[in-house]
Amino acid sequence: MPDLQNITTTPAAPPRPADAHKGTFGTVMIVGGSATMIGAPAITARAAFRTGSGLVKLAVDSAILPFALTIEPGATGLLFTGELDHRLAALDAADPDKHAVLAVGPGMGQAREAGELVVALLRGKRPVVLDADGLNQLAWSDYRHTPGGAPLVLTPHPGEFRRLATPMGIRLDPTRPDQRTDAAAALAQMHQAVVVLKGQHTVVCDGDRVFVNDTGHPALATAGSGDVLTGVIASLIGQGLAPFDAAVLGVHAHGCAAEQWAAAHGRAGLRAIDLCDELPAAIEKHR
Ligand code: AMP
Ligand code: MG
Repeated sequence: MPDLQNITTTPAAPPRPADAHKGTFGTVMIVGGSATMIGAPAITARAAFRTGSGLVKLAVDSAILPFALTIEPGATGLLFTGELDHRLAALDAADPDKHAVLAVGPGMGQAREAGELVVALLRGKRPVVLDADGLNQLAWSDYRHTPGGAPLVLTPHPGEFRRLATPMGIRLDPTRPDQRTDAAAALAQMHQAVVVLKGQHTVVCDGDRVFVNDTGHPALATAGSGDVLTGVIASLIGQGLAPFDAAVLGVHAHGCAAEQWAAAHGRAGLRAIDLCDELPAAIEKHR
């Protein structure tokens, strides 16, 4: 394993010019959701708004779109239905210049068709933050991201990490503090990606640089907190940060948000939507 540069400072949050309009801060498109997981993509959308995105679009199946939009009414939907070609065409219709950042996986489910969609998006031009079942779909495919491909951020928790890394011959233990950095670096090199290995002391690594996070709180051990992180990182990429910087700042601010909530409310009972509401103040601390 080559020496990794240890990063200890977080990048500044993107500026907020006085003449900004909602298009100034990029577009986040969330690809996910399924019949039994409608809240996850909506939570990712809320996190992106709370991080400063002005435009957030939900690429969720048309059957669940009304429910997802009811949870997060500032988002807009795509007519996302039918075969793979139709779905890719809907993304292009909503984002003809391919400028949007994709947050892929929250609530996506494990259907085979979802796997085909994930691989098609990874072969595309738009930056991708891949999480949750999006990571599982990648693990079940033989796709490997190559140099020169679109920027890719992988955000596995240790279980998702093992599913991705074990078939690639990476045997390091993502839960062992003395192996987490090497584990993240190995996966980052295999997929030419930024890897965010979650859990207490989340590790962010792009294969050359590593950041070990020192914010966060066990109150984060609740459903949806990972969906929030995905929205934060995608939002920051959309606002112009490089993917590694977006991941470092995003992980740090997400942990600060949890600390803020715990200081006000106690050590248990945090919901993902509460965490979203802490994000503006947490991001502001980084300006
Ligand atoms: P997920 O498992 O995808 O919902 O993601 C959980 C999120 O909460 C990740 O950002 C984890 O790093 C964070 N998290 C969970 N448990 C803890 C903990 N005990 N301490 C700090 N962060 C945690
Ligand atoms: Mg998750």
